Amino acid sequence: MTKLLLKLVLLFVVISYGIWKLSASTEFQLFGELIHKVDTEQKLVALTFDDGPTPHYTAEILHLLDLYQVKATFFVTGSETQRYMTQAKQIVAAGHQLGNHSWSHPRMLFMSLDEISREIEGTDQQIRAAGFKGEILFRPPYGKKLLLLPWYLAKTHRTNIMWDIAPETFDGLPDDSQTLAAEVLAQVQPGSIVLLHLMYKSGDASRAALPIIIKGLKDKGYRMVTVSELLTAQ
Ligand SMILES: [Zn+2]
Repeated sequence: MTKLLLKLVLLFVVISYGIWKLSASTEFQLFGELIHKVDTEQKLVALTFDDGPTPHYTAEILHLLDLYQVKATFFVTGSETQRYMTQAKQIVAAGHQLGNHSWSHPRMLFMSLDEISREIEGTDQQIRAAGFKGEILFRPPYGKKLLLLPWYLAKTHRTNIMWDIAPETFDGLPDDSQTLAAEVLAQVQPGSIVLLHLMYKSGDASRAALPIIIKGLKDKGYRMVTVSELLTAQ
């Protein structure tokens, strides 16, 4: 009896671990299209910035991208886009891409289809209100997805955009800007998708790393494009 119980506990642990690994995978999901990197020979990279927009840092980021003539993709939340529509419109007007990063940034692992639909559709409406005309790509908060979210995305013909380079860690303290930039420049390959968080105070090191990353990528002969442009190169 105890042996059976032990086996069941072990089985439960193994299955839970498997589900957790699957939900956090940047390269695999059960339904629909997931992109973590584009298969191309061309030296193209997509810089992607999660969360926001916020009034504090949007202008600074846009100024930098304009200075280096670089296009990027901003995965924004619906709630912040609604609240900071001025900044969202500025991002679109500058020629960058807006992507859907849910309405309220929840973990969407165990949500019902109704909740998933509200998180996604409401955000698309805000992105359209900001003037973005292209295909709206999706990125789940914390990169988390399991069953219903991929199923909903597949059913509504949305592509899930993950990343192959994320120099920051989600939990730990962010590294210094030189380390963050060095990490990106060491890992970059043609078709890479880089994830950075720039929109809050906690993104100080990442914002300081951005010009170093852009200069470094240019020195390596890379051109920085939106995710949609990168997708056409595959
Ligand atoms: Zn996020």
